[in-house]
Amino acid sequence: MDRCDTLTTLRRHKISVTEQRRRILAEIHSLDGTFTAASLKESDSLGGIDEATIFRTVALFLERGVVRSVGDSERGQVFEKNCEHNPAHGHFRCTVCGTWSCLPPFSAKEKRGLFSLLPDAYAAESVSVVFQGVCPRCSG
Ligand SMILES: [Zn+2]
Ligand SMILES: [Zn+2]
Ligand SMILES: [Zn+2]
Repeated sequence: MDRCDTLTTLRRHKISVTEQRRRILAEIHSLDGTFTAASLKESDSLGGIDEATIFRTVALFLERGVVRSVGDSERGQVFEKNCEHNPAHGHFRCTVCGTWSCLPPFSAKEKRGLFSLLPDAYAAESVSVVFQGVCPRCSG
């Protein structure tokens, strides 16, 4: 599967390049679903990078639009990569196991439908849809 180049991504978002930022971004690009700073800290490929650096880097990535925020969990804010490989979609948060699942991407028509819910006086830049309930694994 195609992945964004870390160097190109950092430069495009005007983030100065460090070895640690490249490693953290490579790990984020390798993930298909959601993550938290705490879950990144546990990944083997980021061994040797301290927690404070991971939290700071994720906060910087969020501010510069490299990742987007999906919601909040018991383990902190939930993120996912924000690039062409991860088009806008809704999420499902399981109230039993706490898992966040990514749902299929919105079609252009669905996106227009969502934005049409907004009164004219508001200028939206993005929309997020989160369902909550019991996921297939917990209901089975
Ligand atoms: Zn990408
Ligand atoms: Zn569940
Ligand atoms: Zn997602």
